[in-house]
Amino acid sequence: MKIVCIGRNYTDHIAELKNERPDEPVVFIKPDSSILPPELDFYIPEFSNDIHYEVEVLVKIKRVGKHIDEKFAYKYYDEIGLGIDFTARDLQAKLKEKGLPWEKAKGFDGSAVIGKWLQKSELNALNSLQFSLMKNGIEVQKGNTELMLWKIDELIAYVSRFFMLKKGDVLFTGTPAGVGKVTANDYLVGILEGYEMFDVTVK
Ligand code: ZN
Repeated sequence: MKIVCIGRNYTDHIAELKNERPDEPVVFIKPDSSILPPELDFYIPEFSNDIHYEVEVLVKIKRVGKHIDEKFAYKYYDEIGLGIDFTARDLQAKLKEKGLPWEKAKGFDGSAVIGKWLQKSELNALNSLQFSLMKNGIEVQKGNTELMLWKIDELIAYVSRFFMLKKGDVLFTGTPAGVGKVTANDYLVGILEGYEMFDVTVK
């Protein structure tokens, strides 16, 4: 399986990183080796001194599709989740400066936290899902999918023009404002529509 991630999908986060508002979604891939096995702690990798959390709504693809029409995109997923796109911000800044790919900063081992899954039928309108990230009991990120520049179905249509989507693939839909650094012993909890979706201890 692959993980397809969207960058710069929330205006407030674009502003905090002083990025330009993109004309099209920013897309990158994390390898399956980036998934943090559930129940394992996240270890800060030795190559970075600035690992950031990015809480994101996730979509699990349930069947093969390419060139998916936006109006049929809903047929390609039943499950919605929440996760973290851990990012080595210092390394990413260096790579960006040189115009190089981000993979090392985004796809390293353990960089993808994938929490539990909810059936979309259990949720209210997918375009107004509330989610948040708590760090050591304090809310550090809060988002709502209504603030996405590109909504879930638009993202599926867009991504599937370039990458065939397969059963089990996971889409990370981008992070809202409030990204920040983790340090050893931080405890992160992700909440989607009142459901606790994951918890991670940083080592
Ligand atoms: Zn992200």
